[in-house]
Amino acid sequence: RAKSAGGNRYEFADPEADARVITRHGLTTALPTALERGEFFIEYQPLVHLGDGSVRGAEALVRWLHPQHGVLGPDRFIPLAEHTGLIVPLGRWVLEQSVRQAREWRERNGGDAAGPLRINVNLSPCQLTHPGLVQDTVEILERAGVTPDALCLEVTESALIGADDDLLKPLRRLAEMGVDIALDDFGTGYSNLANLRRLPVSVLKLDRSFTRGMQQFPADPVDLKIVEGIVSLAHSLDLAVTVEGVETGAQAEQLRILGCDTAQGWYYARPGPPERLHELALVDATG
Ligand code: C2E
Ligand code: MG
Ligand code: MG
Ligand code: MG
Repeated sequence: RAKSAGGNRYEFADPEADARVITRHGLTTALPTALERGEFFIEYQPLVHLGDGSVRGAEALVRWLHPQHGVLGPDRFIPLAEHTGLIVPLGRWVLEQSVRQAREWRERNGGDAAGPLRINVNLSPCQLTHPGLVQDTVEILERAGVTPDALCLEVTESALIGADDDLLKPLRRLAEMGVDIALDDFGTGYSNLANLRRLPVSVLKLDRSFTRGMQQFPADPVDLKIVEGIVSLAHSLDLAVTVEGVETGAQAEQLRILGCDTAQGWYYARPGPPERLHELALVDATG
């Protein structure tokens, strides 16, 4: 196997890699028409309160129903969309759909004990630097008749590492309006923990790599200590902690004991169609 040189992701000596390059090129050129033709769709994965097990909202995860290749996950096309700039209109579309969906959930599920459902939407770094972000978000919320507190925007830790004030300004404006900002994949970016104070975030989403260590029983003691430390730091900074990748009941219990607030993962539900979330939340609300 040829080793790729200089950070090149593709190993051209590998025949399969050639196929991947062609697909990559093909996918890139098909992206704009895919948006026009409505080939993207969104799945929603519930966010569950660890204390009482209630569904509090969902994360929107985009998929592409490609006419030849079938359903493609975001890891296949988001990087391409970022590279070509299509991520801006695509991200706007995801935001608009998701916020509308949140409104529908709220209308149908308004008065339950756990409170109105909220929606988490991923933002790519390119969207952060796009000048229309704040205005687009405000308009989308207004059009849907949804208050800003229904929305949480997820930004990866790596996108904010070394972020200067210009980059943080739109996030600050959104946070002041009442939109929650979550630091996604937290713990993978080697960011300075003290840096957290500077960021307009209110939620830490602990990366799946931490929950993995809790799959076996007893859990890895070092992982436990690290998570315990992160949770206590987060809470002392008034940040809520969400954990990703919870696949077993044992993990959920461990993370609850460690003080994590919200969880997401296959143990509760895989990402699915919006009706599924409504069912889960409703079952939950009626006991
Ligand atoms: P993410 O934001 O960290 O989303 C969580 C990913 O973990 C999702 O993968 C989800 O399906 C997966 N996951 C959830 N629970 C479990 C579990 O228990 N076990 C395991 N093994 N995996 C679990 P997905 O849907 O493939 O999305 C991958 C990434 O693509 C997302 O990571 C996010 O960074 C990005 N993405 C998804 N939708 C969008 C979007 O609309 N815009 C942008 N910019 N990025 C998006
Ligand atoms: Mg996310
Ligand atoms: Mg994440
Ligand atoms: Mg992740």
